[in-house]
Amino acid sequence: MVGTQGRIIIAGGGPVGLIIGLMLGRAGIDVTLFDKGDIVHQEPRAATIHPATLDLLDDLGVYERIEPLGIVCPIVNYYDQRELLASFDHGLLAGETRHPWVLQCEQDKLSRVLFAMSSDIPNLEIRTEIEVLDCSQSADAVEVEVQSADGSRERLRGRYLVGADGARSTVRKRAGVEFEGLTYPERFMIIGSPFDFSKAGYAYRNYISDPVEWYNLFKISWNGPPGIYRLVVPVSPEEALDNDRILETCQRKFQRFHPRSEPYEIVLHDSYVVHQRVAATFRVGRIILAGDAAHLNSPIGAMGMNSGIHDAVNLSTNMLRVLNEEEGEEALDRYVRKRRHVAVKHVQTSTIANKKNMEQRDPETRRKYREEIQRAAEDPVLAKKFLMRTSLIESLRDAATIN
Ligand SMILES: Cc1cc2nc3c(=O)[nH]c(=O)nc-3n(C[C@H](O)[C@H](O)[C@H](O)COP(=O)(O)OP(=O)(O)OC[C@H]3O[C@@H](n4cnc5c(N)ncnc54)[C@H](O)[C@@H]3O)c2cc1C
Repeated sequence: MVGTQGRIIIAGGGPVGLIIGLMLGRAGIDVTLFDKGDIVHQEPRAATIHPATLDLLDDLGVYERIEPLGIVCPIVNYYDQRELLASFDHGLLAGETRHPWVLQCEQDKLSRVLFAMSSDIPNLEIRTEIEVLDCSQSADAVEVEVQSADGSRERLRGRYLVGADGARSTVRKRAGVEFEGLTYPERFMIIGSPFDFSKAGYAYRNYISDPVEWYNLFKISWNGPPGIYRLVVPVSPEEALDNDRILETCQRKFQRFHPRSEPYEIVLHDSYVVHQRVAATFRVGRIILAGDAAHLNSPIGAMGMNSGIHDAVNLSTNMLRVLNEEEGEEALDRYVRKRRHVAVKHVQTSTIANKKNMEQRDPETRRKYREEIQRAAEDPVLAKKFLMRTSLIESLRDAATIN
């Protein structure tokens, strides 16, 4: 058995686990973080980082390192089929945030930056290609069993265990926490092409509702300028898993979205099962959940990683109060109250509504949605209110009112 009772153990080195490791490590706490992968080759799933999150990353000295890797996007457009309904400028948020724009920066780039920054912290030990297999706890300690790539196992003891091990969290399952919610029957496909959609009038961020097949179209920097556009589109599981025809499917999706005589160059494609779920609790004694391990949502609205980063900052701040003996464990319960409230009342509510708006088939409901979003874009007060919600500033301020 290795470890000390003061050590914090983190399962998972995605953006959420790495930020917790960075914050606790910088505060002088001994931390061991395990990731079953190598951290440097993560999937580039999330790409949109909202203003509220940029402020938090800036406080950690991360923003200046990721801005050159991404694309600054003040504008987001909403379409009904191919008709532009509304255009919002995040510049309206000046005075509410130090970053009145969205940064399009893929999450694997963010993780690599955080990983590099972590190497300067002697008391933060990051152990890659080691999987957390099991965890248990007693009144005064938590214990994890891990397995290396060569099959060897060891056990480690610590004071708290943070489960930041993503959607299929082993920690959540071993702690016996229910993951309540639903799974959508269709998958979401991501297809990337260097075709320049700005020539067709699209902004760098576009939500396109369509009763037949909705789309999200975003620019990402990818391997550097000029970048590529990423189309997110629903796909049946049969089509998504038919590898022999996958490029045909990608081509058909792009051609339906924006028909052209030439075929599209497809440079990336992937598909995901999408859930709307929140863990029944984010804390069982010495085991605490954060990020995707605690809550999952559809990517429409780009709130998963963003709200996970907000969890990470809030949990680290509250945990430090306990570790520094400024407060008892009630600080950890405050983290749970605040962040579970945000997950349920803000992130789940918004992302479920976003999907309904994108795919709405009922003409009357579509008409109301059109009118509402057009009215919001035309009135600066309503537009700002809209952006306060979509940029997650509202959810952070709401959480701040909870004790
Ligand atoms: C298509 C798509 C697009 C998205 N776009 C956005 C977006 O634009 N903006 C946004 O905010 N969110 C977006 N998301 C959501 C975002 O990807 C997640 O919310 C985010 O990755 C959560 O970060 P995390 O650190 O909690 O988990 P993860 O990023 O999943 O990291 C978990 C880590 O834990 C490790 N791990 C897992 N199990 C173990 C174990 N047993 N032992 C050790 N290590 C383990 C994994 O290797 C991984 O490195 C998108 C998701 C999808 C699918």
